[in-house]
Amino acid sequence: MSRVWNFSAGPAALPEEVLRQAAEEMLDWHGAGMGVMEMSHRGKEFVSIAEAAEADLRELLAVPANYRVLFMQGGAIAENAIIPLNLMGGKGTADYVLTGSWSVKSHKEAGRYGRVHVAASAEASGYTTVPALESWQLSADPAYLFTCTNETIGGVEYPFEPDLARIGRAGVPVVADMSSHILSRVIDVAKYGLIFGGAQKNIGPAGLTIVIVREDLLGRAMPHCPSAFDYKTVAEAGSMYNTPPTYAIYVAGLVFQWLRRQGGVAAIEARNVAKARLLYDYLDGSGFYENRVDPACRSRMNVPFFLRDESLNDAFLAGAKEAGLVQLKGHKSVGGMRASIYNAMPIEGVAALVDYMKAFAARHG
Ligand code: PMP
Repeated sequence: MSRVWNFSAGPAALPEEVLRQAAEEMLDWHGAGMGVMEMSHRGKEFVSIAEAAEADLRELLAVPANYRVLFMQGGAIAENAIIPLNLMGGKGTADYVLTGSWSVKSHKEAGRYGRVHVAASAEASGYTTVPALESWQLSADPAYLFTCTNETIGGVEYPFEPDLARIGRAGVPVVADMSSHILSRVIDVAKYGLIFGGAQKNIGPAGLTIVIVREDLLGRAMPHCPSAFDYKTVAEAGSMYNTPPTYAIYVAGLVFQWLRRQGGVAAIEARNVAKARLLYDYLDGSGFYENRVDPACRSRMNVPFFLRDESLNDAFLAGAKEAGLVQLKGHKSVGGMRASIYNAMPIEGVAALVDYMKAFAARHG
């Protein structure tokens, strides 16, 4: 067996240790005589798996006691509707900060459920930066303010936490799509009303959506919000109002245990900083490749880059594949290349990419 360095934006590489453990436990989990996929979600074995996963996630992110952790389905795109359905009802207006494809999509979807207001937009920059918090213009009384704190496609990451207290609007709950950088850096959960993300980038298998929501935001759903997507219903049922994505929760739990063994979020953040620096420093100094994102807002997780001579793109990708480096093609809306280097990508993988890029530039420069 030989594994490649997988730079996919998601579903993405998982820690090899986790995959091995899941493989070992596939047929018989801890003497249960069955695998996790075959268990009743209400049986004591699976309930213990889900409880441990939640407890580990809470510890990793230091989630305060007045927040609920929900294991949902539908992915981040479903949340684009589920969030307004749950939070927009009373006030009717929600504010959005537009920093790239994902927040633009979220804003568009929310418009189906109520009034939306753009509090700030980086459109004029071609979505290569995050507008300074001081420039945000919130509406009079929004139900929430929506942010996507890491734009997976554009490779733009907030260099600050959207703490509305700094602009005198502490009462407005901040919603954050953290799909592509949750658990990659230390955050202060208390600064947010709701954090959400699909699991398939930095957490585990696709099919699981994580929602971390402050308790006072429960119970505000519009009457036509589907029960299975009403946060209060889901919270009261311990994320088992309907059958949850049990295997995905189990693997996510193994990833949380792995993260704890790595030293937790602060330790993995230090590694992520080193990985990103290695790649961006090389890109900037190469004269052969370039990244076009405002240096202050460059994502540590998703690194889009271009060859200055784009006629070499196919040769670059073919050579990379031969060297065991895969999924480097950029998103179709951007072109060029993109290397996603989530928590599970060790620095050796980034070093292998930089070595290949150097060799390719030397051959073609
Ligand atoms: N938001 C962000 C930031 C994403 O990266 C993605 C997936 N690429 C989505 C939303 C959509 O997620 P899903 O496909 O799980 O609905």
